[in-house]
Amino acid sequence: MTDVDVVVIGLGPGGEALASRLAEAGLAVAGVEARLVGGECPYWACVPTKMMIRAADALAHARQVGELAGTAQVQPDWAPVAARIRQDATDDWDDEVAVQRLQGKGATVLHGHGRITAPGEVTVTTADGGTEVLRARRAIVLNPGTEPSLPPVDGLAGTPYWTNRDAVAVTAVPESLAVLGGGPVGCEFAQVFARFGAAVTVLEVAQRLLPGDEPEAGALLAEVFEREGMTVRAGAAVKRVAHDGSAFNLDVDGETVTAAQLLVAAGRRTDLAALGVGAVGLDEGARGITVDERMRAADGVWVIGDVTGLGAFTHTSMYQARIAASDILGEPVEDADYRAMPRVTFTDPEIGAVGLTEAAAREAGRRVRVGVAQLPSSARGWIHKVGNDGFVKLVEDADRGVLVGATSAGPMGGEVLGALAVAVHASVPTETLRQMIFAYPTFHRAIEDALADLG
Ligand SMILES: Cc1cc2nc3c(=O)[nH]c(=O)nc-3n(C[C@H](O)[C@H](O)[C@H](O)COP(=O)(O)OP(=O)(O)OC[C@H]3O[C@@H](n4cnc5c(N)ncnc54)[C@H](O)[C@@H]3O)c2cc1C
Repeated sequence: MTDVDVVVIGLGPGGEALASRLAEAGLAVAGVEARLVGGECPYWACVPTKMMIRAADALAHARQVGELAGTAQVQPDWAPVAARIRQDATDDWDDEVAVQRLQGKGATVLHGHGRITAPGEVTVTTADGGTEVLRARRAIVLNPGTEPSLPPVDGLAGTPYWTNRDAVAVTAVPESLAVLGGGPVGCEFAQVFARFGAAVTVLEVAQRLLPGDEPEAGALLAEVFEREGMTVRAGAAVKRVAHDGSAFNLDVDGETVTAAQLLVAAGRRTDLAALGVGAVGLDEGARGITVDERMRAADGVWVIGDVTGLGAFTHTSMYQARIAASDILGEPVEDADYRAMPRVTFTDPEIGAVGLTEAAAREAGRRVRVGVAQLPSSARGWIHKVGNDGFVKLVEDADRGVLVGATSAGPMGGEVLGALAVAVHASVPTETLRQMIFAYPTFHRAIEDALADLG
């Protein structure tokens, strides 16, 4: 039995940052990680996918030369992408550098599966079957993240489907790809592989792509995807999946869709029973863990990251880590506030969004005014010409005269989002925004046009 101040189970982006800060502050910290220190983001998610997208966007830009600047021959090659992911992003899926970084701050790192076995007690099982019991004097912090989950489709479980963890590690692009799930993850992978030459079909059970975002965003992506030669099937119920040794056959509403590969991007889950949260009075059958505004979930237990259900993003995990660490250290810190949670789907057009959608704001009982501006009819959009798809949509709480949500879709939509996130975060009156000077001819000038459209 080893006594420490804090045990952190799961070292995703937030868990690593929190362990690092608490160790630097002089606490005895033990971090427990079942896979790789750093979590999903650097090895299987944000970082490798954004490298793939950067490469796919370069191909798309080269293909635009014909309309703008002469001729260019484009010969896609996956090898530089695979090499960059292996070397620059993941170190061939090795966390030695991250472990050393954390140890350098003074934390102890244990590779193994952590489980709460009693209040203040964590039992770690290592790969060789050995166990070690840790006693946490001050806090147990859970940052377990999520695993890809399988939708209950007949036959799917027995097939060699990919999840994001396989898709970021491929060394060749499949001839054809069916993507199960048209959310941010499915859409990002779909466009990348299509731009590298795969015949891609996106299958989304909801009536549109990006069902969590404004309907205009999903409609825009579907239009662009189809223009680029992809097939988008929204409202598609996949009834059965079979693999015949060389290809996947999917029964989609009675029709067969055939593809060389199948990528499942249909949600995430966390096994709370395996974490032993019942030992501290939490529901092991729940989808996630409810936390208060300081990330406390039970006596002596703080929880951060995707499992809190408050935004499955690296920036959420890091934000919550800062608040939880201060709370554990007894330092003054603000309560968590998720009103201005930003999210970006890094497709082309990029879809940035912050706060509430129009529908969510109406459901919350607010009196809502909406303003929309289309990028192609803006000065920058017209100058940009090919690849200028996009829009800015503002959602105003009409009674308070402040924005409660916004979407910026288009080239660099995630960067344009910055200004809108400030407006929602700081509750800047829309009247004040109207008085701003917007640089000409920028994409973010569409915010001014959307403000005018608010009425
Ligand atoms: C394909 C893809 C692309 C994404 N792109 C973006 C993006 O561009 N931007 C963005 O903000 N977000 C993105 N995300 C989401 C992002 O990856 C996560 O929100 C982020 O990793 C934060 O998650 P987390 O901190 O909850 O934990 P994770 O990063 O999931 O890490 C949790 C860690 O806990 C470990 N663990 C779990 N249980 C135990 C246990 N019992 N014992 C020991 N260790 C355990 C796991 O092995 C894991 O390493 C993407 C996700 C996917 C799938």
